[in-house]
Amino acid sequence: MKILTLSRNAELYSTRRISEEAEARGHEIHVADYVKSYMMIEPGNPSIYNDGEELIGYDAVIPRIGASKTFYGASVVRQFEMRGIFCANQSMAIVRSRDKLRTLQILSRRKVNIPKTAFASTPNDIDDVIDRVGGAPVVIKILEGTQGIGVVLAETKKAAKSVLEAFLGLRVNILVQEFIKEAKGADIRVFVVDGRAVAAMKRQGVEGDFRSNVHRGGSVEKTRLSREERATAIAAAKAMGLAVAGIDLLRSERGPLVLEVNSSPGLEGIEKASGVNVASKIIEFLENKYNREQKDRIGV
Ligand code: ADP
Repeated sequence: MKILTLSRNAELYSTRRISEEAEARGHEIHVADYVKSYMMIEPGNPSIYNDGEELIGYDAVIPRIGASKTFYGASVVRQFEMRGIFCANQSMAIVRSRDKLRTLQILSRRKVNIPKTAFASTPNDIDDVIDRVGGAPVVIKILEGTQGIGVVLAETKKAAKSVLEAFLGLRVNILVQEFIKEAKGADIRVFVVDGRAVAAMKRQGVEGDFRSNVHRGGSVEKTRLSREERATAIAAAKAMGLAVAGIDLLRSERGPLVLEVNSSPGLEGIEKASGVNVASKIIEFLENKYNREQKDRIGV
């Protein structure tokens, strides 16, 4: 197969590992910086160029789109889709997953368990909103935040009210969420490929922080998933229409709850913590897809 990874930098751990495994499995693989690629939108001939050369002749595309480049990145992925090229994740699913609220709305519709969450735009109903998510402590999240920035734990109703008033006064979109105390500052990242939970790790926040983000100094370790955790992660990826996804779960008293869904999940932490060759699983998925399509084409 001839594969193209859309990534800002070929040297990033995840991008490099995907290239290594593709080559080890006998494929030709290239990396293109999607931000530096441009598109021609013409009737019947949607094309993509990078460094003056057309990106053409690929059998599959692996999008690795950064959160801050979602609009442009997803547009490049869509351009490949318009050419009928198979993309490991679809542009539509990537865009959906980048909106925390939209993700939770989709998950709730598919009956995937999530923490009780509210979304409001005026301070008038603050008391009611806090009560409906179960009362203080509550977690307040800025919708556009990532890597734990803009995630606040309000211990009392009074604190929650002042934080909410401040954010709403600044016209920032926020979610109010039930605090899952039993998670004890840890969450579980499950890597799902083609409807299977292929690897998992537990992330633990630094002492005294309820947030487990590795970017905030958290640590990772291997973990064994329960059947329910596996099923929840797989259901979340399916609901979002993502073939390759990193699903973040909290271990709660009422079972696993999905916090977030990531459409370009990193490989470094999870490969090291779990010992699983995740990059190879992604390539295998592309091979299976490709082989199925070839069979369809020759009518076997
Ligand atoms: P970000 O996208 O910024 O990482 P998250 O929603 O994933 O934001 O929250 C960051 C971390 O905070 C999570 O990994 C988790 O450890 C913790 N956390 C988030 N929401 C809750 C919650 N409702 N209850 C308990 N811990 C939470």
